[in-house]
Amino acid sequence: MAISLIPLPYAENALEPHISAETLKTHHGAHHKTYVDKVNQSIEGSELADRDLEAVIQAAQDKSDRALFNSAAQTWNHGFYWHSLTPERTEPSDGLAKAIQNDFGSAKALNDALIDEAVAHFGSGWAWLVVKNGKLAIISTHDAGTALTEAVIPLLTIDVWEHAYYLDVKNKRPDHVKAVVDHRLNWRFASANYSCQTVWSYPHLLMQDN
Ligand code: FE
Repeated sequence: MAISLIPLPYAENALEPHISAETLKTHHGAHHKTYVDKVNQSIEGSELADRDLEAVIQAAQDKSDRALFNSAAQTWNHGFYWHSLTPERTEPSDGLAKAIQNDFGSAKALNDALIDEAVAHFGSGWAWLVVKNGKLAIISTHDAGTALTEAVIPLLTIDVWEHAYYLDVKNKRPDHVKAVVDHRLNWRFASANYSCQTVWSYPHLLMQDN
């Protein structure tokens, strides 16, 4: 059972004008695909070949296999990221909205904090909204670092690698992050993660077209 390149949950042009079809095509069809291909090359014929992606990531971390960890964690992070974005306007559930009010004071304060974290993150990585010790929190991870291996429940993530925005806004990361936070975050996905209080699982696909 190979790890799959999961399809985007929307059309490549569905996030325009905030993320272009060209960016999504390259980001999903080249960057994410390359991570998936590398994981499969690494685990083929090994004891990890039949394991799910989360187990591969944990095993790579336990063995300090940095190359496998990077490709496996980046595969997971991108799957989580596609679901963190949406073409539609979405709102947090009542339960999540209440938590935002309690832990950040307002939705605007949360958005501002998320933008600050994503913009200020040095180099490549990910900004995450998570549940940590029962409270909402914003964290970031470097390079292929993933919230999956932290003691948190990830609700949303923003990819701040340059490949996520360079085709659209060149080096203006703040413009990209603000557009994503203001228009494209999937609060329905965040609410589902919040209400079940479990960590999202990377899907298994029975058929692949690649
Ligand atoms: Fe990326």
